[in-house]
Amino acid sequence: MTLDQTHDPKLASWVEGAEPGSDFPIQSLPIGIFSEAKGLRRPGVAIGDYILDLTASADLLDEEWREDLSQPILNAWLSRGPEAHRALRQRLSEILSDERYRDDVEINLIGQSEVRMHLPCLIGDYTDFYVGIHHATNVGKQFRPDNPLLPNYKYVPIGYHGRASSVRASGEPVVRPRGQRKPPEADAPEYGPSRRLDYELELGIWIGRGNDLGQPIPIGEAGQHIAGYCLLNDWSARDLQAWEYQPLGPFLAKNFLTSISPWIVSADALAPFRTPMPPRPEGDPDPLPYLSNDADRQSGGLSIQLEVTLSTEKMRQQRQAPHVLSRGRADSAMYWSAAQIVTHHSSNGCNLQPGDLIGTGTLSNDSDQGLGSLLEISRGGKQPIELQSGEKRSFLEDGDEVTLRAWCEREGAVRIGLGECVGRVVSAY
Ligand code: MN
Repeated sequence: MTLDQTHDPKLASWVEGAEPGSDFPIQSLPIGIFSEAKGLRRPGVAIGDYILDLTASADLLDEEWREDLSQPILNAWLSRGPEAHRALRQRLSEILSDERYRDDVEINLIGQSEVRMHLPCLIGDYTDFYVGIHHATNVGKQFRPDNPLLPNYKYVPIGYHGRASSVRASGEPVVRPRGQRKPPEADAPEYGPSRRLDYELELGIWIGRGNDLGQPIPIGEAGQHIAGYCLLNDWSARDLQAWEYQPLGPFLAKNFLTSISPWIVSADALAPFRTPMPPRPEGDPDPLPYLSNDADRQSGGLSIQLEVTLSTEKMRQQRQAPHVLSRGRADSAMYWSAAQIVTHHSSNGCNLQPGDLIGTGTLSNDSDQGLGSLLEISRGGKQPIELQSGEKRSFLEDGDEVTLRAWCEREGAVRIGLGECVGRVVSAY
């Protein structure tokens, strides 16, 4: 993936709020689906504090794009692949930086505060992986202190099929799920509201062009199938999970809601922030040949900073700043790259489709400050954290609001943000 004039750090937009330091400078140009009050859903691009309405900008776009971008979902657009996406990016970069276009374009800008964001795609399938090695180790230790990682972990990118129907855009209330809970000391389970509700900090990968059934995606081509990235919160009911997960894995503990940040930040926008994959520790096996690729080793990592904050009802009443639960990085958390995830998913011939969503798995760092779930932060509930309000938390209480944030920064490039993924817990029905 090469850099071009759209990445030039000197390039500036005439749009308000697009100055370097914002989440949405002209070097980013993420796409999403928005609506105004009582208006139709339609595609737009985030720039500064605004959204450029792509349907209203039709005469600035080419004819083929118009058809794809007239729809209230982006599946058809994502299926067009990187060439089309790059061409639109170049066009947008031009019209949002060159003052000559300002009069024609400015009328199609809508304030981000005036719109509601929706899911960008009709998600056919959602898969969640488990590539955060420190998370897998931390969780494994709670069950198997001497042998936290199972023997397959360093050979197979572990994943499971999630449920697409309950994936929602940021802001969707988190209704505390009910389910079967069985504390270790109890003889039999009960059905009731989860007492160990948790979040999981993850990145989401949007599939662009798909592959045909029976045709695996070679590792060298995986990047051509990744349209972009978002933040993903895989809300998890740990008590339900502990009881139900054997032998087939996660089910109702996970599929009551998955929240995502609404903007698809393109793989092109993230190009300046590609980084080598962390070297595998001495003694770890090499990836099998179908998962092994020099270019991916050298630039398959994503230099993304991650942050999770929590605010309780009481903290909001007392106007206290949210509590920072963690700060970490994606590149040092991921044992497998996005390309390896996509390649492995299709390696048996499974067909990925445009608009499919893949979660990386919880991204924890190898430090107490960078843990991506409360299960890890509270050591399985044994060490509650204390908040500024004097409240304690092992898991989430009703009224708690969790915000995931992510951004990329490095010298010689303009910072870009992935936006926010927010959810507030409400009591069980
Ligand atoms: Mn997960």
